[in-house]
Amino acid sequence: MTKLEACPCGSNKAFTSCCQPIIANDSATTAEQLMRSRYSAFVLGNAGYLLKTWHPDTCPHDFQLGQSRWLGLKILHADSNTVTFTAAFHAGNKGMILKETSRFVCMDKHWRYVDGDCEVTPIKRNDLCFCGSSIKYKNCCAKRNSSEA
Ligand SMILES: [Zn+2]
Ligand SMILES: [Zn+2]
Repeated sequence: MTKLEACPCGSNKAFTSCCQPIIANDSATTAEQLMRSRYSAFVLGNAGYLLKTWHPDTCPHDFQLGQSRWLGLKILHADSNTVTFTAAFHAGNKGMILKETSRFVCMDKHWRYVDGDCEVTPIKRNDLCFCGSSIKYKNCCAKRNSSEA
């Protein structure tokens, strides 16, 4: 499977049999599926899907996709209404890790993101890279990042 075909959410499935149909049909059947599809929407810059799947009570009216470049998602824990995950991203020149416990609710058979508790910390240079390369961050995406900057 090439990088292009692989789903951005890190499921090791093809995008077309993972998040793509969920994004197209608003058809997540679990909180984790919605979480994964929203992460893929962040990677792909699909603000419309992010807004659609945001609970109307908590959806920001001035939502804009940032300039972050997303490196990878890891689901740490998922139950019926919450998902705890880490997602690594580059913002400007810095590698950061977002750790969040998100809350979801099912409304009229559609899962919606409510809110979450999150903390953001810098990526440690000796951490294994989040992109799945199995080499240290400092020798992988950190280099790619600085060569682009
Ligand atoms: Zn996916
Ligand atoms: Zn990497």
